[in-house]
Amino acid sequence: MKKLIYLLFTILCFSSVNLTPKEKNFIETHQNIKCVTTGKWAPFTYYHNGVLQGIAIDYWRLISSKINLKYYCYINPNWNSVLEEIKNKRKDVTPISAITPKRKKYALFSKPYATFQYVIVTKNTVSFIPSLKFLKDKKIALSKKYTIMEIIKNKYPYLAIIPTKSIEESLEKVKKGEAFATITLSPVASYYLSKYKFGNLKISGITPFSYKARIMIRKDYAELLSIINKAIMNISEKEKINIYKKWVYNKNFDNEEMFKRILWISIGIILILTAYILYQTNVIKNKIEENLKLLHFATHDKLTGLYNRHILDYNLKQHINEYRRYKAPFSVIFMDIDDFKKINDTYGHEFGDYVLSEISKIIKNCVRQSDIVGRWGGEEFMIILPNTKLEEAVKVALKLKSKIETHNFRQTHITCSFGVATFNNENTDTAFIKKVDEKLYLAKSKGKNRVEY
Ligand code: GH3
Ligand code: MG
Ligand code: MG
Repeated sequence: MKKLIYLLFTILCFSSVNLTPKEKNFIETHQNIKCVTTGKWAPFTYYHNGVLQGIAIDYWRLISSKINLKYYCYINPNWNSVLEEIKNKRKDVTPISAITPKRKKYALFSKPYATFQYVIVTKNTVSFIPSLKFLKDKKIALSKKYTIMEIIKNKYPYLAIIPTKSIEESLEKVKKGEAFATITLSPVASYYLSKYKFGNLKISGITPFSYKARIMIRKDYAELLSIINKAIMNISEKEKINIYKKWVYNKNFDNEEMFKRILWISIGIILILTAYILYQTNVIKNKIEENLKLLHFATHDKLTGLYNRHILDYNLKQHINEYRRYKAPFSVIFMDIDDFKKINDTYGHEFGDYVLSEISKIIKNCVRQSDIVGRWGGEEFMIILPNTKLEEAVKVALKLKSKIETHNFRQTHITCSFGVATFNNENTDTAFIKKVDEKLYLAKSKGKNRVEY
């Protein structure tokens, strides 16, 4: 059904374009017209998202449908090559071109199918510009590629023209304030001004110049020229308005670029924040590590790695307090290496250090995790045994005595003397230590390598 309607429509259109037999014959014998375009002149002909589109493309489609012309569109991004291809007859038509004396020598031009006004674009802070004369002494950015450059140069020699490579570059210059204005075709202005990045620009005035859009045809296709001209004459006002509406008046604000920008800014902020958080985490981690090291130095003995006297004192006080409050029993072993001076003198100080750290390891392996082991001074150690009665503490001391005396210290044997006591509500911690120390003294005086309690 759809096909039938389309057929009727094309027949109607075709019939409304009155062709001579010669022209009809041309269409029948030329079933594959080669159309070529740059696809780089928005919004007239441009290749976007894989689709060739634009005002000129819509007109070309309308014209060819009116005459039932079969064609294929080629894209050649270089405009000079496009002209060259028409000149060399490798391609048959290009859908939009201005007529110039030079081009007329090697190609045919249709009647204009549309006329577009050149307009003045400035920042939107500028009010209405009634004439180009008002731009005297102002910088005007103009693309070298387009004919308007020559027209302006000839008619307004007093304007300060900044030549640019493209319309976009001209608009960029106006946006940055490097140029006061640019002059471009109204659809081009509408197209770019609808983009986010040119949101602060506006059309401030019109010029007396206009652009007549024509189809350029290879020189030897005179029949095609007359056919196309007939089709152009057949274009109704309604059809023209429809194309205009689609491309000029009905263009929505292009948010794509704004969204892209917001997306990139958001990604940037997230990355910066992440980097900052990671950096701060690292700083905190380093500080914690540093503080832990300092804490370790402050609480531990460097040679043996056991708690130092400061921690032993603190724990002793804690346990005495707890005993007073909860009657939790605890005992203390005080031990001293026998004849350590002699060991140092015989084997050297370094060997003495080795003995100290070796004995520390033996103690650590012999006691429970909850017992507190520390170096009291020179070759004296203290073990605080929480929740331990005297008998159990004595057992630990005896086990230690035996482990040490049987241990091989680089072919040498070492012994220790032990004083053991359990806390019995003494008045002060010093009084308690004195009691343990007395037991140790007793062990020494009774011949060493003994446990006294
Ligand atoms: P006793 O059996 O009566 O305890 O005799 P002793 O020789 O062990 O006791 P004394 O108090 O006379 O000597 C202790 C020695 O311990 C003196 C000191 O040189 C040595 N000493 C203390 N601290 C260290 C240390 O960190 N390393 C080494 N190698 N020796 C130390
Ligand atoms: Mg000693
Ligand atoms: Mg000693």
